[in-house]
Amino acid sequence: MQCLYCGKDVPQIPGKRERLYCDNKNVCKQLAYKKRKAIVNTPLVDDMPVNSVQRNSYTEMLSELVELRTKVSDQAQTIASQKHALEVDVWYHLDSEARGLKAWLKKQRKTPLIEKLLADQFLPAKPTSRAMFERYLRSKGYTADDLAEFAHLWKALIKGEALQS
Ligand SMILES: [Zn+2]
Repeated sequence: MQCLYCGKDVPQIPGKRERLYCDNKNVCKQLAYKKRKAIVNTPLVDDMPVNSVQRNSYTEMLSELVELRTKVSDQAQTIASQKHALEVDVWYHLDSEARGLKAWLKKQRKTPLIEKLLADQFLPAKPTSRAMFERYLRSKGYTADDLAEFAHLWKALIKGEALQS
């Protein structure tokens, strides 16, 4: 992506909305805005017989174009994150590896369920598979909400371990 104003490369942050201008201080963005405004306000030379209606619609088209670009990039981002969530879901369902849940939970921001799991002396401390943990939680009367949060935690655990390796 090149800056819409000066044409310099715009460094993009993965996962963030596409940046259309090169710098953080919005200098190019402001200049681009002024330029668009100037197009409308400057009296045009004789050999460019563009009337104010045409000029206005030109400026409108420009800002519409910028808006559309932003929208398309937003949608692409949404699709990418949905695809990623789906991949993690599939991964989660296929995961049969024994993982050290308890040690990992100690390092997470505490929620009531995490506190409860850490306080549960029968929860396996050794690496154990997801299916075994789920069976254990069900047998101990953990609620459906607890199991849903467990699934969420397990996905985070898988993702975290994938990032480390
Ligand atoms: Zn620029």
